[in-house]
Amino acid sequence: MMATTHVFAALAVAVVVAAVAPQFAGVVAAAAILGGLFPDFDLVAGHRRTLHFPVYYAVFAVLAGLVAAIVPTDVTVGLAAFLLAAALHSGADLLGGGLELKPWRATSDRAVYSHYHGRWLAPRRWVRYDGAPEDLALAAVLALPALFVFDGRVRSVVIVMLVVSIGYTVVRKRLANAGEWLFGRVPASVLSVVPQRVVPVEDDRERTAE
Ligand SMILES: [Zn+2]
Repeated sequence: MMATTHVFAALAVAVVVAAVAPQFAGVVAAAAILGGLFPDFDLVAGHRRTLHFPVYYAVFAVLAGLVAAIVPTDVTVGLAAFLLAAALHSGADLLGGGLELKPWRATSDRAVYSHYHGRWLAPRRWVRYDGAPEDLALAAVLALPALFVFDGRVRSVVIVMLVVSIGYTVVRKRLANAGEWLFGRVPASVLSVVPQRVVPVEDDRERTAE
């Protein structure tokens, strides 16, 4: 799934929190956006492993949620929302495609790494790949509540992310082909210093093997 889809899912939850506790609407929205994006910052180093914790984020989100319920401040509520968004993201990656360069070919059995289980979890492919038409449709539906409830900067962020999502969906397959073409022409000595996940490899099972 696209990073933006994860953000919209987190914001849909933030809408519920904002309805219950409107004084925290702003901080929850900001934390949902950051937490929805955060796991994918590992794109250049151990993607879907380094910052993806499908089990641990959820455990800490529950604990942080309890603390926030007992001592509701901007910090406790924001931290709980951030962890919940990151947990949703890491869990949702399981429902998408695999880690390969062209996930629509469904050749990889790696969706997301679970540090709790100590192994890669297999992709369910409910959404076949990030930037698939169904991914964009899901993103649009999930973005709707936030568009109606939040205003100002949050709404602007949602609109920009929707535009980015549409653009990404349009060029997704061409991007993979362009990457393949480009890296096919780069000397091996240069490739060796490029972060692992940036280099497109048709079947990266060996590359990501630990
Ligand atoms: Zn992810």
